[in-house]
Amino acid sequence: MTKRTYGKEYGFKTRAVHTGNDVDAETGAIKRPITMANSYELPYDPSDMNWSSAGGNLYTRNGGSNQKYLQEKLASLENSEDCIVLSSGVAALSGLFFALLEKGDHVIFSSVTYIAVYRLLNELLNNKFGVETTIVDTTDPENVRKAIRPNTKLIHIETPGNPTLMISDIEAIAKIAHENNALLSVDNTFASPYNQRPIELGADFTIESLTKYINGHGDSMGGAIIGKTEYLDIIRAQSQINLGGVISPFNAWLIMRGSVTLPLRMKQHNENALAVAKWLESLDCVSFVAYPGLESFKGHEIAKKQMHDGYGGVLSFGLKTDHDTHNKFVSHLKVITSAVSLGHDESLIVFLGEDDERQYLYPDEFSNGFFRFSVGIEDVEDIITDIEQALKKVGLL
Ligand SMILES: *Cc1c(COP(=O)(O)O)cnc(C)c1O
Repeated sequence: MTKRTYGKEYGFKTRAVHTGNDVDAETGAIKRPITMANSYELPYDPSDMNWSSAGGNLYTRNGGSNQKYLQEKLASLENSEDCIVLSSGVAALSGLFFALLEKGDHVIFSSVTYIAVYRLLNELLNNKFGVETTIVDTTDPENVRKAIRPNTKLIHIETPGNPTLMISDIEAIAKIAHENNALLSVDNTFASPYNQRPIELGADFTIESLTKYINGHGDSMGGAIIGKTEYLDIIRAQSQINLGGVISPFNAWLIMRGSVTLPLRMKQHNENALAVAKWLESLDCVSFVAYPGLESFKGHEIAKKQMHDGYGGVLSFGLKTDHDTHNKFVSHLKVITSAVSLGHDESLIVFLGEDDERQYLYPDEFSNGFFRFSVGIEDVEDIITDIEQALKKVGLL
């Protein structure tokens, strides 16, 4: 049997291909198989086993082999010690919050985040379980410093933030967190570890929705918490085994397979999105373009510092037109699909209307309705031509 475990002496692309894979000891296959079993054979005398343990093969909710292979790869790609893979990005976020926070603890979180984070921290954990929460515009680290309380346990930021792309300075906020005995978690879904690795910048936890870039093909769901084993053991025991948001072996396998091409896909997403953002910015009918790669974007300098290989595939933009023309424009698109989610191979667009309940947390230019556009890896000329012909059909070009 050839040993194929690749350590940090290898580059990112080599690890995306090899880490977590090995020759299958039983068959000699050069790809590890999917183990579609939920239970494992017990030892001769199982009576003293810990049924809530994460060690060893016992029951798939406690830990399955495909889940472990994927964890090995993701921990390596994020340059961290350990990883927990769960059933969705939201299972990872709620699993982190549930295990770390207790009644009376205080959390500071970014004003622009994935909607479930807003629900969890602004409605559920505070009202149901007595966790104190403060929404902060984390684009200025000083706002975070001012919001710190003696009981601040966790700072949770999302950068780039969904859907405004707002950028927060990971290194500066990690410093503030640690000076105040708090932990920092960063939702890295928009960047992916190819473009940004929060733990290298001082964060304690990285959260990834694997549903997006890491799987990359729009055909499965998963989430990951990456960080030190010291904390991840607690999260594994409390949130994976006892909350139960475990990933299926098949989804772990699909994501493992999709992640092999993460570096190639991200390179194309980065290039396509930058080209589309620049082109959109040049049009008179476009009211604004939010993309961290544009020099005109507010967070560009910080993004340049912390996003080492590019700015990702998601941008938001507005059109100088009325509500219904936005929908008409979308109905004329042929290459780009109107659907939520992002980070798929194909381009996806979603119209977020004027009455989003969190509009008050967004910059002014977002108040007339806007598009969140996940630029895919198609030929960039085809993406631009598609937008162009749809704008012409609604009389904006
Ligand atoms: C999609 C998304 C999530 C949630 O992930 P799911 O896999 O859909 O549960 C979390 N954070 C960000 C930034 C996302 O875009």
